[in-house]
Amino acid sequence: MDKEQQFTGRCNCGRVAFKITGKVGPVGQCHCSKCRRASGTDGNAVFYTSFSSLAFLSGEGEVSTFDNDGWIHTFCSECGSPTPHTDAAKKIWFVPAGLMNGDIGHEGYAAHIHVGSKAPWVKITDDAPQFNKGFENSSP
Ligand SMILES: [Zn+2]
Ligand SMILES: [Zn+2]
Repeated sequence: MDKEQQFTGRCNCGRVAFKITGKVGPVGQCHCSKCRRASGTDGNAVFYTSFSSLAFLSGEGEVSTFDNDGWIHTFCSECGSPTPHTDAAKKIWFVPAGLMNGDIGHEGYAAHIHVGSKAPWVKITDDAPQFNKGFENSSP
């Protein structure tokens, strides 16, 4: 059996660090207004990984949660970097891709979601599929 791959990521101050064992999912870019405000940029680059594959190496207690009617944003209490968070059923982690150290084995975005509410100043220049809303309720 192949040795499972390990990936690591951390916040800017380094208090919150985690590792992912196994596969890192393809990276999607969410263009919704909440992700824009959370990042201060054109959205959020995020991938999913299974609940059992991610473990905190440090700083889990430093993570603060902002819950906006079920839209969850978690971040390091010290430096403000976004941090991984789970879905309500604790089946998957949503991991901000920018936290990862090194190469995670993907090139470019796999999809753009919530393109219907993207910032007017953003021009999408790649050919990844675009969804008006999330994956679950719209087609490209
Ligand atoms: Zn931090
Ligand atoms: Zn979003």
